[in-house]
Amino acid sequence: LPQLLVLPIDLKSEVIIHTSSAMSELRFDNQTVVVTGAGGGLGKAYALFFASRGANVVVNDLGGSHHGEGKSSKAADVVVEEIRAAGGKAVANYSSVEDGPAIIDTAIKNFGRIDVLINNAGILRDISFKNMKDEDWDLINRVHTYGAYKCAQAAWPHFRKQKYGRVINTASAAGLFGNFGQANYSAAKLGQVGFTETLAKEGAKYNIIANVIAPIAASRMTATIMPPDVLENLKPDWVVPVVARLVHSSNTTETGGIYELGGGAVAKLRWQRAKGALLKTDDSLTPGAIARKWADVNDFSVCEYPTGPADFMGLLEQGLKMQSAPK
Ligand code: NAD
Repeated sequence: LPQLLVLPIDLKSEVIIHTSSAMSELRFDNQTVVVTGAGGGLGKAYALFFASRGANVVVNDLGGSHHGEGKSSKAADVVVEEIRAAGGKAVANYSSVEDGPAIIDTAIKNFGRIDVLINNAGILRDISFKNMKDEDWDLINRVHTYGAYKCAQAAWPHFRKQKYGRVINTASAAGLFGNFGQANYSAAKLGQVGFTETLAKEGAKYNIIANVIAPIAASRMTATIMPPDVLENLKPDWVVPVVARLVHSSNTTETGGIYELGGGAVAKLRWQRAKGALLKTDDSLTPGAIARKWADVNDFSVCEYPTGPADFMGLLEQGLKMQSAPK
């Protein structure tokens, strides 16, 4: 097996992702892939890859600055030209992701279908929380949260009707863990996780698979915050194979997954719930009683890995039994 950080992905998947001969079998012929923010960085790498594997690609990009100012058709056009010059099929779309229906319409009008949606477009408005303005908060949430929602919502009826759809949403380590100067971005990016989990649950019945990635890659977003030698090993190309595997038709089981990846490393994340404490719901439930149980609340030596709201019910059921137990 290749050298990489492998965590709880099953061995078979890992081989599919990383063995070059297996990768060469991943084709997307007759499928339409919509990539938002495909004029540069990660989005461009996805677009070039999917087109090289036979897909029709909608190259969406608003073409503004990484702060979300301005717009231009050039970013998308350059990528479309590159794809066509290499013999691939692509069309440009210059809408903001806030106008998701226009982007999905481009896929339907030009290629008659949509199979894969990669919600990738993004901007930054980094600023300390103390100095954050409504505009910084709103713009980030409009592009990342509302934009991903509008694109997925426009694709959804097509996915349901054809009983096939693949979605990748893009989170960030900043969302998973928080990061200085990124309160707006962190909130929007963790939002992608909850959004994906729900799409995975609602989509399951219709063969709609949704996963979320927290990538790291050299792009204009990271160009000024990481040294060149580190960026050298973080080509967007090293994120693409995992995304390709997750959105391929051969993936019928991996859904609702959260993956951190970049620079050849890939790892799945999950929630972990500590042992916890159960207290009687009467006058004895005081701050002091909680304090006496605090070690249990924080005890990860005995833990669970919840995957849905229903998982908490087990704890509540125990609680109910305890409440009704004779004194
Ligand atoms: P990038 O700036 O190179 O690419 C983002 C693209 O999105 C740009 O081409 C931009 O024009 C486009 N875009 C911005 N707003 C848009 C809008 N409203 N509508 C349509 N297109 C729009 O950045 P990247 O690093 O390739 O980032 C891609 C995604 O990955 C983003 O969602 C970003 O938040 C996320 N991400 C990147 C990193 C990283 O290390 N590069 C880390 C974590 C998350």
